[in-house]
Amino acid sequence: MTIQYSIIAPIYNELENLPELYRRVKEVMSAAGGTWELLLVDDGSTDGSTEAIRALAQEDKHVRPLIFARNFGHQVAITAGWDYARGEAVIIIDADLQDPPEVIPELIAKWKEGYQVVYAVRAEREGETWFKKVTAAAFYRIIYRITDVKIPLDSGDFRLMDRKVVDVLKTMRERHRFPRGMSAWVGFKQVGVPYKRAARYAGVTKYPFNKMLKLALNAITGFSYFPLQMATFFGFISAGLAALAIPVVIIMRLMGSQFFEGQATTLIAVLFLGGVQLISLGVLGEYLGRVYDEAKGRPLYILSEGPED
Ligand code: UDP
Ligand code: MG
Repeated sequence: MTIQYSIIAPIYNELENLPELYRRVKEVMSAAGGTWELLLVDDGSTDGSTEAIRALAQEDKHVRPLIFARNFGHQVAITAGWDYARGEAVIIIDADLQDPPEVIPELIAKWKEGYQVVYAVRAEREGETWFKKVTAAAFYRIIYRITDVKIPLDSGDFRLMDRKVVDVLKTMRERHRFPRGMSAWVGFKQVGVPYKRAARYAGVTKYPFNKMLKLALNAITGFSYFPLQMATFFGFISAGLAALAIPVVIIMRLMGSQFFEGQATTLIAVLFLGGVQLISLGVLGEYLGRVYDEAKGRPLYILSEGPED
């Protein structure tokens, strides 16, 4: 049997959201027409979501469980979904119902018009802290500025992708992943659909600040050399300043000024340069660490239970 639509939902401790997610997806997809499957990727949940996913799969053959051996992260869970999805169109959706399943038919309509990536754009966000909104807005704009791929502003992972696109994405096995950037990078015919991002149905965010920071680093390092180029930039600035300072100091000395005497000046200059050098080294380390991770060639994720088990 060919499957028309695959819906991928990454699950990390979303026990209270699972029944509602299933109910609403089922309702929407039954009305949409066409065969469908719901891939529930359990990213190392510890709250009983795993058992709930198993039970849903027992009850309804539309549901296919992918159970990770531990928490590998949201981006990797999406990747596992891509690997196992069989649909002609693949839809990624958050399990907390912040991305309303009712938007899926709009994505499908655009796909039927011939678009191969249909991303949902957050026209409004509900029930999120001002801190999250401000950092998210800044994040999208910085990424847009400094990376080579034009990742659409305010679009998250909620999107539909054609089989052709997913087959390309499946070959991109980078370890530090930024799926929405990857799906912008591949090209194809893309279009955005605005939607209102709802508040979480239940539970709290599984994206604390450190995870957000990691994702931002993945996005920047994965799609740009900008931080590396900053080191060169600062190098030229410091060297230029030093070159300018030499004649200035000589002239001031000749004129009898005491201005540049003493250890404080030296200390500040040394600390400044030391700081710039250490930061540059850190930036280099970020990239080097990523190269090292790639070199190890470990699997992206480990399944303790696949959909066919
Ligand atoms: N998620 C995941 N693994 C993680 C963290 C989150 O699979 O390590 C899932 C989570 O269950 C949800 C989606 O990723 O379905 C988005 O997470 P969340 O809603 O917590 O992020 P936010 O919407 O607050 O950015
Ligand atoms: Mg959420």
